[in-house]
Amino acid sequence: MGNFDTVTARGPAYVCADGHDMTNEILQTKDLGCTVGHAQIGDVGSKVTMTPGNWGEPLLPGFTGTIHVYTDCQRCPALIHLQTANVLDMWFEVEIEIVDDVVQRITRISEPTEAQIVAYREHWGEQQLEGPMSFADALDRSCDLRGRPRVRR
Ligand SMILES: [Zn+2]
Repeated sequence: MGNFDTVTARGPAYVCADGHDMTNEILQTKDLGCTVGHAQIGDVGSKVTMTPGNWGEPLLPGFTGTIHVYTDCQRCPALIHLQTANVLDMWFEVEIEIVDDVVQRITRISEPTEAQIVAYREHWGEQQLEGPMSFADALDRSCDLRGRPRVRR
């Protein structure tokens, strides 16, 4: 199923590889039961809280394990895949170790922006890509390539 739980993260560990603060973003995880609920995760030593949704089985309270929390960073640069007009944006992901609902360790596992750009180029071929450019410019470019009006922001 495509269900997940949304996550709000609070603390200095939640920055992308380029240093952008991710604490105002809506993150996602598939590791807390995919209840379509919401979890709040803080710094090391703090307790994870969860408001479960109406799907599946919430794994909190009483959770011990490692979870992955992620989203894209819209303040990092992005590329355009010319053939599909898709925006290829930069991934942010942290691995969080939790024991009895308490955060033990937070490790960013997403690659730095430069490495992600290299990976996109290796995967798609450089001629198929345009950029890097700002995420906002990439959205505009995507709309232009698709012949659609630009999204108002
Ligand atoms: Zn970023």
